[in-house]
Amino acid sequence: MPVSPREPWLITMKEKPILTYALDATDHRRVTAEQCLDAAGRDDPLEHPPLRCPVCGENVHAAHMQDRAHTAHFVHIAGERAQCPLVNSMLPVTSTFTTIYPYDAALGHQRRNEFAQHWQQHLAEIRRHVPSFSVVRLTHGIAQADVLHMWSCPTLAQQDIPYVLLVLSAFIAQNPGAAHPSWLRFVFDASVQNIADLRQPRSAAPRLFRLRYRASHHSMFPNASHLLDWAEVPMSGAFLHETFASVMVAEAATFAQFMDLDAQASSQPGESRLFDD
Ligand SMILES: [Zn+2]
Repeated sequence: MPVSPREPWLITMKEKPILTYALDATDHRRVTAEQCLDAAGRDDPLEHPPLRCPVCGENVHAAHMQDRAHTAHFVHIAGERAQCPLVNSMLPVTSTFTTIYPYDAALGHQRRNEFAQHWQQHLAEIRRHVPSFSVVRLTHGIAQADVLHMWSCPTLAQQDIPYVLLVLSAFIAQNPGAAHPSWLRFVFDASVQNIADLRQPRSAAPRLFRLRYRASHHSMFPNASHLLDWAEVPMSGAFLHETFASVMVAEAATFAQFMDLDAQASSQPGESRLFDD
């Protein structure tokens, strides 16, 4: 239902001024908080459409900070109870895909082998967003994908795999080895609850976001209260056609060893491996 500009737009809220734009619920265009507040200030006769948080999809409205500059931003109508990693510190830190796809041996082998043939391009795309992402971390992501039978997902697209692996990686230390590392985390918007949602017919393309956190001194991983900034990450299949910086010999050996071990495990009767279930 449209919100009248005469509604109390100019209230002040405690939510961090981190949500700088929202999405028009009708046509998905970006709307800035300044645009909303300017329209309200002009008593614009045009009614505002419902606006949604780009990350969680919940309703938001524009507000001013209580600072001298009256910084404009959006706040969630539900406040910190919104099911949003930007504001809700109580959300589980490991929320990610849970759907396990029916095992399809032929399709799974084909998809996984195709990925393995181009793994350095996938890694290069991941490193475009996380330069410190290690090959070991990549193998952990593949192992998680194996558990989910991701390769058997009928609509899985190779170009989506680097982004899925980033999301599956949950918290990634920006300065690995530091006593109190800062962290990155990647999340899809709330319309993507499982891998198949990425390729479902939809009115708006799925979105990927990078969240950056300061170190947490009282818990292993940070939460929304530690959030420093966030940004949408463009997704594209162009990396599959680009030349890439080759990996180090040791990294290639690590990947080859993982795949060899994986193949050996798959050939062992009684071993519970993905492609021999
Ligand atoms: Zn949100």
